[in-house]
Amino acid sequence: DEKPLDSFLAANAEKFPKKKALYFMGKEMTFAEVYSEAKKMAGYLQSLGLEKGDRVAVMLPNSPQAVISYYGALMAGAIVVQTNPLYKERELEYQLNDSGAEFIVCLDVLLPRVTNVRRKTALKHTIVTGIKDYLPFPKNRLYPFIQKKQYNMVVQVEQSEDIHVWESIIKGSSGVYTPVEIDPKNDLALLQYTGGTTGHPKGVMLTHYNLVANVQMCQRWLYKTKPGGKILGVLPFFHVYGMTTVMNMSIMYGFEMVLLPKFEAEDVLKTIQKQKPTMFPGAPTIYIGLLNHPNLKKYDLSSIDACISGSAPLPLEVQEQFESVTGGNLVEGYGLTETSPVTHANFIWSKRINGSIGVPWPDTDAKIIMEDGLEAHVGEVGEIAVKGPQIMKGYWNKPDETENILKDGWLFTGDMGYMDENGYFYIVDRKKNMIIAGGYNIYPREVEEVLYEHEAVQEAVVAGIPDPYRGETVKAYVVLKPGYEATEKELNTFCRKNLAAFKAPRIYEFRDELPKTAVGKILRRQLIDEEKEKIT
Ligand code: ATP
Repeated sequence: DEKPLDSFLAANAEKFPKKKALYFMGKEMTFAEVYSEAKKMAGYLQSLGLEKGDRVAVMLPNSPQAVISYYGALMAGAIVVQTNPLYKERELEYQLNDSGAEFIVCLDVLLPRVTNVRRKTALKHTIVTGIKDYLPFPKNRLYPFIQKKQYNMVVQVEQSEDIHVWESIIKGSSGVYTPVEIDPKNDLALLQYTGGTTGHPKGVMLTHYNLVANVQMCQRWLYKTKPGGKILGVLPFFHVYGMTTVMNMSIMYGFEMVLLPKFEAEDVLKTIQKQKPTMFPGAPTIYIGLLNHPNLKKYDLSSIDACISGSAPLPLEVQEQFESVTGGNLVEGYGLTETSPVTHANFIWSKRINGSIGVPWPDTDAKIIMEDGLEAHVGEVGEIAVKGPQIMKGYWNKPDETENILKDGWLFTGDMGYMDENGYFYIVDRKKNMIIAGGYNIYPREVEEVLYEHEAVQEAVVAGIPDPYRGETVKAYVVLKPGYEATEKELNTFCRKNLAAFKAPRIYEFRDELPKTAVGKILRRQLIDEEKEKIT
C-alpha cells in the first residue's frame, strides 16, 4: 500500500477503538488509547518546532512509550532514529551526530548519558520517561536497565526549556497536531542503524513504503495463524526485526502485542503461560536460552503457533526441540536491516526445508551472483542479491557506500549462498566472515554447525584470529550447557571426525557467555578485536 505507516494506527483506532493493542507488565492499552497518546506526542513535538524530515531519536526498551514515541514522531512528519538503550556515550554521540537528531526520547535512567553528550551534538530537546509513567513503581520486579543496587532509586526529572517530562506531554498536550503530507515512496520513516557486527553502524534509510510493504508480506506469510492472534514482543523494537515483525505488524493488522522490556528466560516462559501469545518471532539465541532454562518443563507453552527465527542460522536441534515443547511451528527466515528486514522465509504450514532460509517473500526477487558478475547455476555458491519494495533507499549521507551495495535496484547482501532446484535458498556464510587460514578458505558457519551437534555445547562461535604463520587460524569460543562437561581434547576429536583437518579449530576457549548484539547475535568481531588487542 502506498500509505504512510502511521495512517494504519489512525485507521485501526477508528475501526476497533476498544481492541487491546498492547500488554506490558500488567498494564493494557487499547488501540484508541495508543492513538490518542501518539497524537499528543505528535502535537507536543510540533509545538517544540519539529518540522517534516527532522530526526527524532527513540532510546527506549520495549514499553508503551516506545510505541507511542515512534508513531507520534511519524505522525508529526519526523524520521525516527532508533537508538539502542544499551549504547554507551561514545556510540550514542556517533549516532546522534551521524543522524543530526534534534530530539530524543529516552528512559529516565539514561538521562545522564544523554546529558553528557548533548553539547557535542545537535540535540535541542530531550523527552524523558520512566516505567513509572505507565506502572506504579515496580516493588517486586527488577526495573529494566538499572542495576540491582539502584533498585530503590526513583528518578526525578524536572521539566525545563529543553528537558520535557512524559507526564507533561500525556497530561498537558491537547492532542492537536498538524497532519503532514507524506509521499510514502520517497519520504523516510526511519533511519535504522545496522547492528555493527562488521563495522561502524550505518544509517539505513527506510521509507514508509518499505516498512509497510515488509509488514504486508509478513501478514501474507502468517495467513493461517490462530484466530485472536497475539504477538510476543521479546525482540527489541529499536532493532528493525522486532520493529517490523512485532510492533508494526501488530499496529497494522490489529494484533495485540505482549511487550517484554528485556530478555529474561523465566520471565518469557511465565509470560507465555499467562498471556498465551500465538506468534513469537525470535532469534536462535532466544530460543536456545528458553530451551536451556531449568524450569522449562514447568510452563505451558502450548499457545505458541507460529515462530520465525532470523538474524543468524537456526540449529536444527533447536528448531526440533522448540517445536516439540510448544507444539507450534518454528521456521527460519532471513533478512538485513537494509531490507526492512525480511526477504526470505520457509513456509510455516507447508513444505519447509531445514537448513534453508526458505524462498523469497511475495514481491521479492532474489538471485545468486558469481564473482565474475554472472548469475549462478542451481547449487553454485555466490553472493545473494535481492530486489523488492522493502529494499532501502540507501545509506544516510554515504553515497559511495550506497553505490557499492545497491545496483539497478538490486541489493548485494554480502552473504554467500546458493539456490536449489526448487528455489529454496541456503546461506553459506557472510562474505566477510570467511577465514583464510594457510591458504584455505573456511566458512565459520560450517564449523559452528558441527560444534552445535556436540551434546555438551550450548553456544559456539568460530572466528579467524590473527596467526603469524597461517595468516589466520580457526578459534572456537564455546559455552557449555549447564551440567555438561567437555574438554578441549574431546571437542577437537569431535571436530576432526566431522570436518576436514584444515577446518577444525586449532584453539578452543570456554566461556560462561558470549558477547551479543541486541537481538542476540554473537559479536564475532568483538572476539577478534580482543585477540588483536592481546597481540599489540
Ligand atoms: P552489520 O551489518 O552492521 O555488520 P548486523 O550483522 O547485525 O550488523 P543486520 O542487518 O542486523 O546487521 O543483520 C543482517 C545479517 O544477518 C545478514 O546479512 C546475514 O548475514 C545475517 N542473517 C540474517 N538471517 C540469517 C539466517 N537465517 N541465517 C544466517 N544468517 C542470517
